[in-house]
Amino acid sequence: MSNSEMYSELGISKEVLAFSKDVLDSLKERFEKIDEVAEYNQLKVIKAMKKNKVSEMHFNGSSGYGYNDDGRDNLEAVFADVFHTEEALVRPNIVCGTHALAIALAGNLRPGDELLSISGKPYDTLEEVIGIRPSKGSLAEYGVTYSQVDLQGDGSFDLESIRNAINERTKVIAIQRSKGYQTRKTLSVEEIARAIKFVKEINNKLIVMVDNCYGEFVDTVEPSDFGADMIVGSLIKNPGGGLAPIGGYIAGTKECIENCAYRLTTPGLGKEVGASLNINKSLYQGLFLAPTVTASALKGAVFAANIYEKLGFKVVPNGKESRHDIIQAVEFGIPEGVIEFCKGIQAAAPVDGYVEPEPWAMPGYDSDVIMAAGAFVSGASIELSADGPIKPPYAVYFQGGLTFPHAKFGIMMSLQKLVDAGIVKLF
Ligand SMILES: *Cc1c(COP(=O)(O)O)cnc(C)c1O
Repeated sequence: MSNSEMYSELGISKEVLAFSKDVLDSLKERFEKIDEVAEYNQLKVIKAMKKNKVSEMHFNGSSGYGYNDDGRDNLEAVFADVFHTEEALVRPNIVCGTHALAIALAGNLRPGDELLSISGKPYDTLEEVIGIRPSKGSLAEYGVTYSQVDLQGDGSFDLESIRNAINERTKVIAIQRSKGYQTRKTLSVEEIARAIKFVKEINNKLIVMVDNCYGEFVDTVEPSDFGADMIVGSLIKNPGGGLAPIGGYIAGTKECIENCAYRLTTPGLGKEVGASLNINKSLYQGLFLAPTVTASALKGAVFAANIYEKLGFKVVPNGKESRHDIIQAVEFGIPEGVIEFCKGIQAAAPVDGYVEPEPWAMPGYDSDVIMAAGAFVSGASIELSADGPIKPPYAVYFQGGLTFPHAKFGIMMSLQKLVDAGIVKLF
């Protein structure tokens, strides 16, 4: 059976196939560049693994207190070398990205200190961590104040306002690399590097923390290569390579990581404890796969941007722009567009591919939301997934794809659903 017959069996029409092929043919150079970055990052990971003499022994887990968990300790050394930092904390008991960010902040801020975000409003879940929205146990409850400088209209840092916002109590500067689910641009490592240099020139004792979620391995460099004191992320996104079943990481200076460790466990115990149970191997192997998995997700995002741009929809980032994270937004302008898109992503999933998603009133959202995901690791957004709030401008956000053929199929399926519903006409 040929590839096109296989697509046909899975419900992709000749028109969708032909349209997709045209778009894909125009992306060869783009994809070559993505592969080059992945190649570099693959070598970076192997180099760190060789340096730290990763061996089968390190795949053994520990239980109880987790003293002398060599696999865990060595994995942290590998992460530190990949990100070119002094130390790293990489743990299954960091339960998600928000938790990792909360540890990084609470570990390094003390009562009376101020946290300053220079990339505007932080990711939704951090609002309660910081206390922007009052919450039990927030930094605000511990006497840590917060201030914020928004990005400028063109998405760049507002340097003058940053200079004015820094005061004698400012201790941590937070920068969020990815736009997350906002409409602003994602920041490039280069832009972040310039901002770090700027704030360090004002006061080199300031601790710069970068929320690195969705950004890892998209480029050959990371914010930690340019003086970020901590970079923070989730293992069920890029750096877990789809194999990590849970976890988060913080990589940074020895002092910051020590503070984080005392916050994660307890003062005094720090990094010495924390059993890895039996997941070390998945974390090592996931990191090993992360560069190419991230490349697959990136190709999927570029493919989708070009498909939907060609059909006249607004896509962020646009089809040509350089990429700094793996998230793609497509604005449909009507609820049915979001719904059919998500149905297509779901229909292409290896897990729960028979399920039809529907919008529902999810807690914490001010409108109905539809979500498509068929993941091996629950909630993993490095796996092909999409979601959209059912409210104007009726945009869908999607990301992930452990393999490019899967991402490609998912996007073709989304287009098929839109064609079948009469929302999109191809010829
Ligand atoms: C995913 C994400 C987080 C953390 O989210 P979790 O769901 O807690 O892992 C934080 N910031 C950004 C920009 C993210 O994309």
